Amino acid sequence: MNLVIFGPPGAGKGTQAKFIVERYNLYQLSTGDLLRNEIKNKTELGFKISSIMASGELVSDSIVGSLIEKFISNDTYKNKIIFDGYPRTLKQAKNLDNLLNKFNQQIDLVLKLSVSLETIKKRISERLMQENRADDNEEIALRRFKTYETSSEPVIEYYKQSNLVKEINGEGSITEISAEISGLIETIKG
Ligand code: AMP
Repeated sequence: MNLVIFGPPGAGKGTQAKFIVERYNLYQLSTGDLLRNEIKNKTELGFKISSIMASGELVSDSIVGSLIEKFISNDTYKNKIIFDGYPRTLKQAKNLDNLLNKFNQQIDLVLKLSVSLETIKKRISERLMQENRADDNEEIALRRFKTYETSSEPVIEYYKQSNLVKEINGEGSITEISAEISGLIETIKG
């Protein structure tokens, strides 16, 4: 089973992905984490992407595409991936389908966390205090939200065509959301 966890920045994707990983023995593929690691490790790629990330814009489809290909081609993760933060554009969604196809896999479920902009602002200011991320302040949060609306929302329409999308109210508590997600995963697992 491969899943996509989808939603605006600050929707709780990372938190819920970690819960799903533990409960269902999946592997979290967070493109945001992979990119932040490149910056932390001061790689050539890290230098290239740090200002783009700090501004709240998206890194190019080809850069993230090569990061995920490494993961999908690895047999350890076969049919056990939760995609967190990928795909974020229609092009990425199509690229993901092609890649999964190439390695005889597919997406089984897309979990969409819906949250208001007010809640996102509140969560991001809390996260700023805990994690000190370069792209977490209110102005950047707004930019990231706009990027999500323009670039990422079409991705959901794409997955709706294949009936893969389940919407979750992301305003609830972490445990409420986890319980709802578990229920949905159980129905897919049969
Ligand atoms: P995240 O941790 O998922 O919120 O991602 C943090 C930042 O990493 C984003 O604002 C983008 O700059 C970059 N990023 C992460 N995933 C992607 C992606 N799939 N496509 C393009 N940029 C991405």
